[in-house]
Amino acid sequence: MPGSLEGPERVATIRSSLQKYQPFIKPEPASEAELNLVHEPTMVARLRSRRLLLETVLIAVGGAIQCARAAVEGRPAFGLLRPPGHHADQSGSWGFCYVNNMAIAVRKLRQEADLRWVVIVDLDHHVGDGTQRIFASDSEILVRNVEAVEREEYLEKVQSVLQVIRKAELLAVSMGFDTYERDLGGLLKTEDYTLLGSWLRQASERLCEGRRFALLEGGYYLPDLGKNVLAFCEGFE
Ligand SMILES: [Zn+2]
Repeated sequence: MPGSLEGPERVATIRSSLQKYQPFIKPEPASEAELNLVHEPTMVARLRSRRLLLETVLIAVGGAIQCARAAVEGRPAFGLLRPPGHHADQSGSWGFCYVNNMAIAVRKLRQEADLRWVVIVDLDHHVGDGTQRIFASDSEILVRNVEAVEREEYLEKVQSVLQVIRKAELLAVSMGFDTYERDLGGLLKTEDYTLLGSWLRQASERLCEGRRFALLEGGYYLPDLGKNVLAFCEGFE
């Protein structure tokens, strides 16, 4: 989308800030059948009419699945991928999203690795409404969003969301960086992302032997986006 906030520069600037995590793993594309784990056939058919978009989306989903798989195998992972996914539900999408990377990865891993209890914590500035709707009637997948109008309140809410989780076999994080003080949300400082990452790490250690992964959702303030993602990864790793 020319002129869109959601452009390839986002991934490029983050990538250059994450050099210490080389080598990056380039994912195998997902299959259309994997999109069908979450999305209705009409939605997949619509994507099929835009070949390049479909190919891009399949690579992002493949990356999400690979992150979830690494997490289940005991290796924490961060998915540097776009387009984001948390505003996509079974039959539609908005907000730069086309398919729900997170939901597909969670469904896939539940099949593949015989997982039951999964917690998805969404820390994007925007509520992950697609993810919420997809799992609304699923009592074994808990989806939690955090909303606040100022920084301390936000940080406190994240802590209390994590503290009350009692059961998880995998902790999945939809990680947005548009909560940043100079981004759309106007809330958090760079060092806060290290805190968030380390709280999530600690929660996963308490709940599920550290099995955790995070996927990139939003985050549009390019000058500081890379350092914020690096700050997060340093807490999360
Ligand atoms: Zn967002």
